[in-house]
Amino acid sequence: MMHDVHIIGGGLAGCEAAWQLARRGIAVRLSEMRGTGERSAAHQTDGLAELVCSNSFRSDDDEKNAVGLLHHEMRQCDSLIMAAARIAQVPAGSALAVDRDVFSAEVERRLASRPNLEVVRERVDSLPSSGLTIIATGPLTAEALAASIGAATGADSLAFFDAIAPIVHRDTIDMDACWMASRWDKGETKDYINCPMDKEQYLAFREGLLAGEKMAFREWEANTPYFEGCMPIEVMAERGIDTLRYGPMKPVGLDNPRTGRWPYAVVQLRQDNKLGTLWNMVGFQTKLRHGEQVRLFRTIPGLEKAEFARLGGMHRNTFLNSPLLLDRQLRLKSAPHIRFAGQITGCEGYVESAAVGLMAGLMAAEEMTGGQWVPPPPSTALGALLSHITEDAEASSYQPMNVNFGLFPPLDDVKKKQRKQAYTARAKEALQGWLQTA
Ligand SMILES: Cc1cc2nc3c(=O)[nH]c(=O)nc-3n(C[C@H](O)[C@H](O)[C@H](O)COP(=O)(O)OP(=O)(O)OC[C@H]3O[C@@H](n4cnc5c(N)ncnc54)[C@H](O)[C@@H]3O)c2cc1C
Repeated sequence: MMHDVHIIGGGLAGCEAAWQLARRGIAVRLSEMRGTGERSAAHQTDGLAELVCSNSFRSDDDEKNAVGLLHHEMRQCDSLIMAAARIAQVPAGSALAVDRDVFSAEVERRLASRPNLEVVRERVDSLPSSGLTIIATGPLTAEALAASIGAATGADSLAFFDAIAPIVHRDTIDMDACWMASRWDKGETKDYINCPMDKEQYLAFREGLLAGEKMAFREWEANTPYFEGCMPIEVMAERGIDTLRYGPMKPVGLDNPRTGRWPYAVVQLRQDNKLGTLWNMVGFQTKLRHGEQVRLFRTIPGLEKAEFARLGGMHRNTFLNSPLLLDRQLRLKSAPHIRFAGQITGCEGYVESAAVGLMAGLMAAEEMTGGQWVPPPPSTALGALLSHITEDAEASSYQPMNVNFGLFPPLDDVKKKQRKQAYTARAKEALQGWLQTA
């Protein structure tokens, strides 16, 4: 079958993009390597849109939860993934969880109902040199294609491991305990939030890192080397009492204005998005269990009441430095016939991957029909996610991220307790406006 758009990868993003295109009458070829005898280390079936781990799409609460809001917005856009999830739903309280086999079968059934969509079981080994293409090969993109993407983007811009440092909501940091400064007061601006520690606090913190329960690497991840520069903090702690004080907790050149001296150790946070709502803990990638991270990081002066937009982690994960490489329409700046979608763009999670697939499908449909793509407003969950990936995130520290309210333009004038509902109400109104004009 002749096709207008070639989608590579039949996971959550690729299937959603294919659906959005096909239902607009555009001919699609969807290439999926599973079914040829080949599978990634995490996939266990040949079914499209396989959920590789949990069977949950997380919270379905569209009034107080950012991912629940994303569900709502995707449903408004006739999302395949959300429709199949409804059919496959199993009881899970306020979460949207599914029977994974029923879910995958429903995705396949709906795609098969589209005569202008052909699913081809084949592995693609290089970026196509022409023709509208969407690459949705996910965090475990097959090796040859990953090499081809690396060659097109520059090896430094394609990561094979994430090194996720926790991210804190700025308005939960106690600035009475911290101060803003750059090391040696370099530059005209004070770019870092510095949380000072005395010797006793530092030693107790290091003990906490050593004792804390860690997540193990999966068997197939263990052989993927990570750079020394991205070492987990607990591994640094194991190397010696002072290793952290010579690494991410180095206090030199940081005069604490309250004492006039350098602290014994310091935890630094750096702005993570243009809005200034999210700050990452510099160099704090970790394999500590999430509960341990929250408990231990709240012992850091200034972070006692910290709310985390993201906790730390390290996994096998192929993803692009999207804010640097992609334009506002997810196209590779150096080869605009290639668009990326799903987790490979640096979003994180089943729902976010499908949502980026949905938008990539809409963008490609507009491009095919000569229309002008109008992006969803940044006050919507779709728009906030897209803005983060393509523009707002800090390229130098770009790491995968779930959708969260820290990505939305802030509503500082609304009382904290009412903010989540205010975000979702504003988003729903903005989405309606967008759907009417788009
Ligand atoms: C081990 C692991 C566990 C995870 N657990 C969760 C979780 O519990 N909850 C959550 O929300 N998120 C989880 N994620 C993160 C992420 O949301 C999922 O990986 C999600 O499936 C990403 O969607 P995607 O469409 O981008 O990629 P995928 O769903 O992985 O789809 C990519 C598809 O492309 C195919 N492919 C790859 N290379 C080629 C090629 N060269 N040619 C043709 N086809 C190719 C693959 O076979 C696959 O079907 C996990 C990720 C991993 C790696």
